Amino acid sequence: MRYSKLLAPTLRDTPADAEVVSHQLLLRAGFIRRVTSGVYDYLPMGLRVLRNIEHVVRQEMNRAGAQELLLPMVQPSELWKKSGRWDKYGPELLRFHDRHQHESCLGPTHEEVICDLMSRELRSYKQLPMNLYQIQNKFRDEIRPRFGLMRGREFVMKDAYSFHANESCLAEEYDNMYQTYQRIFTRLNLKFRAVEADNGSIGGSASHEFHVLADSGEDLIAHCSACDYAANVEKAISKAPAYSYDDSTLQTVSTPRTSAVEDVASLLNAPLSQLLKTLIFTITGGDLDGQHIAACVRGSDQVQDIKLIRALGADEIHLASSETLQQLQSSIGFSGPVALACPVYIESSLQGAFGLIAGSNQQDEHLSAVNLQRDVPNAIYIDLRQTQEGDVCTHCAANIAMSRGIEVGHIFALGTAYAKPMEVMFQDEQGKRAVATMGCYGIGVSRLMAAIVEQCHDDSGITWPVHLAPFQVSVITLGKSETALAASQQIYEGLLDLDIQALWDDRKERPGVKFKDAELMGIPLRIVVGDRGLESDTLELKTRLGGAAEASLAAVCQTAQTMLQEMVQEIPSSNT
Ligand code: ATP
Ligand code: MG
Repeated sequence: MRYSKLLAPTLRDTPADAEVVSHQLLLRAGFIRRVTSGVYDYLPMGLRVLRNIEHVVRQEMNRAGAQELLLPMVQPSELWKKSGRWDKYGPELLRFHDRHQHESCLGPTHEEVICDLMSRELRSYKQLPMNLYQIQNKFRDEIRPRFGLMRGREFVMKDAYSFHANESCLAEEYDNMYQTYQRIFTRLNLKFRAVEADNGSIGGSASHEFHVLADSGEDLIAHCSACDYAANVEKAISKAPAYSYDDSTLQTVSTPRTSAVEDVASLLNAPLSQLLKTLIFTITGGDLDGQHIAACVRGSDQVQDIKLIRALGADEIHLASSETLQQLQSSIGFSGPVALACPVYIESSLQGAFGLIAGSNQQDEHLSAVNLQRDVPNAIYIDLRQTQEGDVCTHCAANIAMSRGIEVGHIFALGTAYAKPMEVMFQDEQGKRAVATMGCYGIGVSRLMAAIVEQCHDDSGITWPVHLAPFQVSVITLGKSETALAASQQIYEGLLDLDIQALWDDRKERPGVKFKDAELMGIPLRIVVGDRGLESDTLELKTRLGGAAEASLAAVCQTAQTMLQEMVQEIPSSNT
């Protein structure tokens, strides 16, 4: 490709609305442009990278025995009504009517469509197992699209769905996909971690997320500093530190205008861990829809919402309104579990705790020396607290550390959650009709492009691994002389003959501008072609990460090829 013809509008300045480095650099390097909130154009350079990422994903999925198909983005509401998700999915599902008033939605995921297909095409156990995947645009009307490709509304996903005759066969494929994901993210040159994940509202037996470790990640990952244990904080378990305080009779203490746990702790000169934080929630969905409950953790801990939602079988929970608190005869900022008129859920590590300070449900008053067994006899104890840095690992007793992660993949043993309502049936070995068992496996392909930039950049721009770069070599012509242009063209064509993706910077720009653009775009190798180098027949080759070499005009393409091959060899092919 000749740069003079390329649509790659690079920007010198960082766009003001781009917060994370990947968003800034993908815009600045002219890879993407925003169309509207969470919706992007992939310009030619961006598309080339996206295709390179897809290539790795596709190769590994094919190697794992999955087969590619392509499902529609527009999905009829009937399918979603059949699975029961039409009412459940919420506003992320973009619904619309066509000219015949037929209701449809844009696919945020494809369980319904694939199950519909398989309910018609699957007949016998002999066809199983089967894993079908696609790489396709999804639409989710995210409440807060942000960080460019990281959280879009329209984005590219690889989604795979496997069908099995029984659970043990699903477990085998789950493991196969787990290994495949390890290979994919390793080949993409990423620092990543597989973590245990929340199963979501669907249930299912196993779920793992794959996270790229990066400070800009939206997820919080708890991982053991010694053993393999790692989990999303929504699910992580750990041993809370043990505390003990004196047991004595319950007392009321005056805490005027002091409601935040930190302030109460300092007023009463007590450690935060001695305080009991009580949050009152209203439940949406499930058997307890519309009811209120209280959740208590130590003042030094946080309530982990997802754990509570799962324990309650709810869809969502929201902090109760002031009217609700009045109804429950509690007081904003002074809520506590003692004699509270709603069910009380307490973090399990607090079972048997005493000597605690809690809200009294009266304005400007707290209770001291709360003994949970004595004073809150009907409490329900569940795992409720969010794991924190420094907690103790339940597997090996070492310390838990916390890191930020970008979720780039998610694998899920679904069981029959979709297959049953969608009637994906087959004839089993005994000739009986049986429901298929399913797994599903997603990879955020466009999010990966951002995640890779988060890990591969420096002050000058992006530093793509060689196999993902939009072009492998940039041929930079210095000056306007006919000799330099002719030699550049010769090199450019020589590279193409060697099947090397080359960009020839033939623009009438200053050398500094050309170097800066090549660095910003992250092209791994550049060849500089100017009159001076040609006169001495020594052309300069420079890698994006600082390596350098020289070669004659006759040898330069070969030298470039060798240097690229060395760079490829540095990329791990797999860590399995
Ligand atoms: P998140 O918690 O980040 O919203 P999710 O759990 O909703 O993700 P899945 O439904 O498991 O995601 O989708 C599979 C993969 O698709 C995710 O692992 C992620 O990499 C990617 N993905 C999900 N939502 C988005 C989005 N809004 N923009 C870009 N990629 C996304
Ligand atoms: Mg999501």
